[in-house]
Amino acid sequence: MSVLALGAAGAAGAPAAAQGWPQPAAGLSVTGDPEILFTFDDGPNPKTTPKVLDTLRQYGVQAVFFGVGRMVEHPGARAVIERIVAEGHIIANHTMRHGELCRLDEAEAEAEIDEGYRALHDAAAMPIPWFRTPYGARCARLDAQLAERKVTHFHWDIDPQEWRHGNAKRTIAYLTRVLGRAQGREVVLMHDTKQATVKALPEILQWIQEENQRREAEGRRQIRIVSASQYAQESLAPGVWKLLLDVAPSSRWGATLASVLP
Ligand SMILES: [Zn+2]
Repeated sequence: MSVLALGAAGAAGAPAAAQGWPQPAAGLSVTGDPEILFTFDDGPNPKTTPKVLDTLRQYGVQAVFFGVGRMVEHPGARAVIERIVAEGHIIANHTMRHGELCRLDEAEAEAEIDEGYRALHDAAAMPIPWFRTPYGARCARLDAQLAERKVTHFHWDIDPQEWRHGNAKRTIAYLTRVLGRAQGREVVLMHDTKQATVKALPEILQWIQEENQRREAEGRRQIRIVSASQYAQESLAPGVWKLLLDVAPSSRWGATLASVLP
């Protein structure tokens, strides 16, 4: 059912990163409609993350924020984490210092995972249900480290590369094209630390809204946005889900499918 990530097959003979992560990253569409889940990595950044949050609030979208532990130490960052949680998003662990986990020595890699978890858990005051390895790095040692901690890496399907080129227009063009032909469930990777993301996100969500109006008029399947809480309920073990729900902002977690349907 799953296929390996593109680009994962190279590097023959390299022991560290011989395989990619399974895709689709968040399973199959449950509605039969194209379903999109937004994820934002590398924050929190008190300058850019609040703008991303403003846009998500405007469009009623709940996302997953893969935070970096050391970012929480910056002035104002804890308040941003608190806002992320209060607005119904979910915080997940993207390590303490954004290290490349298959290149560090074993103890350093473990510290990246565990310190990141503690810093984010402390700031969010919520369970941290997922982990995302920086650069998508994967190796047998990391698999074992995650298994030991009963943590799952949460991969992505669509990477507009805005972290690399920093161009909002290019990000919008790419995402509207790829989302326009999406048929199953797709996890989008963006970065709440990047101006390109801040600029592109409103355009992308507005495009989805308008595209759905066109599709409705034509009787075609509309694009749904899967909320972070819905995916948590679907994918987490019941005990973890219950822990999360106990401290969730219940008023924000009412809907099963948050969507930007008109
Ligand atoms: Zn990252």
